[in-house]
Amino acid sequence: MVNEQVLIVIEDDSNIADLLDTYLRAAGFRVLLAATGGRGLELISQHAPVLAILDIGLPDIDGFDVCRAIREASTMPVLFLTARDGEIDRVLGLELGADDYVTKPFSPREVVARVKAILRRGQATVAADATVLTVGDDYEIDLPRREVRVKGNIVALATREFDLLAHLTRNQGIALTRQQLLDGVWGVDWYGDDRTVDVHVRQLRKKLGDDLPLATVWGIGYRLG
Ligand code: CA
Repeated sequence: MVNEQVLIVIEDDSNIADLLDTYLRAAGFRVLLAATGGRGLELISQHAPVLAILDIGLPDIDGFDVCRAIREASTMPVLFLTARDGEIDRVLGLELGADDYVTKPFSPREVVARVKAILRRGQATVAADATVLTVGDDYEIDLPRREVRVKGNIVALATREFDLLAHLTRNQGIALTRQQLLDGVWGVDWYGDDRTVDVHVRQLRKKLGDDLPLATVWGIGYRLG
């Protein structure tokens, strides 16, 4: 197949890397393997893969720094491999724009399913979004450019923060449950919990200021406008 999609797996544990390589290739992807963060970044700049699967504990620079470096140049989706609960909090809390994570030990089938879901979501977003949404007089959500402007000034948001804001904006005036937000933004096949939504709402409020009419609806979830 000529047009198979290229992924990169950045993982220093060769057993895990080989396992993922086997399953991802069986699912029709081309796979680049890197055992260090530095090598991973090099391969990314050479081959421009469509998605990165990124371990956090790497021998040279850790996965958070690799993700940061990726984000300077691209919006490529990143799926984190995490080993500990503390790492999950950092994945969710840091403004890295991680698209998803799986916790070790994981099933390689699950990783393949997540990869496919992330890539599908990316395509759906491109097709559906061709407009600029507004919230009140001050907030503009420019879907084609994936840009948020507050009184005309661009505010940088992580990938999922932007998606969450866009989803809330499309449903202005409607109280949405955390589960509805998870399904709508992260996808029904995402295994995250309510905490994910809360963390991202907190970031939106922090970055977009007190004038953003994003209300907590007790016992339900959140409502914009
Ligand atoms: Ca590791």
